Amino acid sequence: MKGKAPFSIWYLLIAFMVMIILQNYIATPPIVKLSYSDFKTQLSEGKIEKVVIDSKMIKGFYYSDEEEPVRFSTVRVEDPSLVEQLEEKNVNYSGQYESPLLRGVLGWVVPLVIIFLIWGVVFKRMNPGAGVMTFGRSKARLYAQDKERTTFEDVAGVEEATEELKEIVEYLRTPDKFRKLGGKIPKGALLVGPPGTGKTLLAKAVAGEAGVPFFNISGSEFVEMFVGVGAARVRDLFQQAQQKAPCIVFIDELDALGKARGMNPVGGHDEREQTLNQLLVEMDGFDTGTNVIIMAATNRPEILDPALLRPGRFDRQVLVDRPDLNGRDAILSIHARHVKLSPEVDLKTVAARTSGLVGADLANIVNESALLAARKGKNEVGMQDFEEAIDRILAGLEKKNRVMNRHEKEIVAHHECGHALMAEMLPTTDPVHKVSIVPRGLAALGYTLQLPTEDRYLMTQQELIDKLSVLLGGRAAEEIIFEEVSTGAQNDLQRATDIARRMVTDYGMSSLGPMSFEKEKNPIFPNNPFMRNGGYSEHTAQEIDKEVKRIIDETYELVSAKLAENKSALVKLASELMDKETIGGDQLREILKECGIEKPIT
Ligand code: ADP
Ligand code: MG
Ligand code: ZN
Repeated sequence: MKGKAPFSIWYLLIAFMVMIILQNYIATPPIVKLSYSDFKTQLSEGKIEKVVIDSKMIKGFYYSDEEEPVRFSTVRVEDPSLVEQLEEKNVNYSGQYESPLLRGVLGWVVPLVIIFLIWGVVFKRMNPGAGVMTFGRSKARLYAQDKERTTFEDVAGVEEATEELKEIVEYLRTPDKFRKLGGKIPKGALLVGPPGTGKTLLAKAVAGEAGVPFFNISGSEFVEMFVGVGAARVRDLFQQAQQKAPCIVFIDELDALGKARGMNPVGGHDEREQTLNQLLVEMDGFDTGTNVIIMAATNRPEILDPALLRPGRFDRQVLVDRPDLNGRDAILSIHARHVKLSPEVDLKTVAARTSGLVGADLANIVNESALLAARKGKNEVGMQDFEEAIDRILAGLEKKNRVMNRHEKEIVAHHECGHALMAEMLPTTDPVHKVSIVPRGLAALGYTLQLPTEDRYLMTQQELIDKLSVLLGGRAAEEIIFEEVSTGAQNDLQRATDIARRMVTDYGMSSLGPMSFEKEKNPIFPNNPFMRNGGYSEHTAQEIDKEVKRIIDETYELVSAKLAENKSALVKLASELMDKETIGGDQLREILKECGIEKPIT
């Protein structure tokens, strides 16, 4: 729609006026209704000027006391002498055959047209940007290719995601290369990550790099008040996309539309479910030959409908995580490209002070410092301005609980190093791939990533105990260094307890002997503790709990002893982690080697 006129109440008023006028001049009888006897009286007094006689009515003009002739009508009565009298008084008279068609047009079509007009105006108001006829059209914006093309150069700090997306670019550029060997081009990629990490930016970069049309629409734009509209929009979007193939369809904020179905306690949101269903249908109906890649972004993958994540739909998930120190440095450099920096500005220092912040925050900091410098009348941005900008933005974010203070960071660093150290000191555990105190996802403050060196289908008792040890390492390290514990180990403890319990109830690895105590799940209320119909007695349940506790306690003792023994290594590793924020596996092993720790070989 171009040049959308602003809605005003005047439209409605004008429509009403037009209707009233039309009624007066076309569809309604004349002003004065005379009885037939009055009409005859007027006629005999010679006041009638002109009449038109049809099958039911007599209409015409008569002179009353005023100058102007008055319109009148009267119901026609069987009166054979009427014509004679009209002749006698010399009245101009004529008959009229009333066409039923004309009557229909006047009586029906005119009001309909008016109603339609009002309807259109009202809907335009409720749904700005779309006229009556474009109601079911998708509002996707097609990105122009030439002006300000976004490329991967504009994105930094999310290298892993960028690498994965480069593949998609290649699919779009040279699809035949992949199809020749019988491979199927993936249909969809889902960008997952916290807000402001650059998901939308990455999607645009993919389009910019591939040089294909890019349909950009937000999930919330599908969700409408009227049932069926969203589904129609999805259909339209995919139709358009298919015509423009090869191209990319990007649905931002997918969670607005893709929330798991049947989750609404009040009885479901029919419209949203219909829209989601339509999206699933369209994604399935897509022939892989059409060369349309569907990308979507969300920061809440956990609430998405599982059907969306199945193979053939968003089967690729790309994690767009918060940037680490080097990443932040690179992002700051990108945004400082067009800012006049004074030579003393060291972006590395800025990056070091902004741990936990995402790309959008950093862009904000650069902009804010430029504004601050301008306000002070400087002609270049100095370190002082950056410091002030950081303080401002951090203060805002701290209020929203989005950044850690120094002490929290210290705790998290030691906690993660506890995990990492245990993983590197035990013989059977998977080696550490990466330790980080860059918050990940929504809950985790830091993480230790272990990568298995081979597939395992069986685990021995020792391997389970070692795994348990790594999980308990975080909390044990906190206790050794700070002599108190934090809430940060909650998830570890959950997983540790789960392993210990399964060792007792499923794997027969306890003093209770080789028996399975698996609870039979109640088919209707699987998690209801009051309806346990397990195959063992209350006494056995107590025994199980005791054994679980014993396994965990004993392991925790061992872990604590081991970490206390290597406290100096733990401290060193943690301080390194505080500086670097992320330590790769090889680097980690080097540091430990210096402390005389090497992974025992099985
Ligand atoms: P998201 O969609 O993940 O919430 P956006 O892509 O909308 O985040 O990011 C908002 C802005 O923040 C971007 O336009 C860009 O200026 C900046 N930004 C975010 N992440 C990055 C990044 N990794 N590299 C460079 N700039 C970034
Ligand atoms: Mg976004
Ligand atoms: Zn932990």
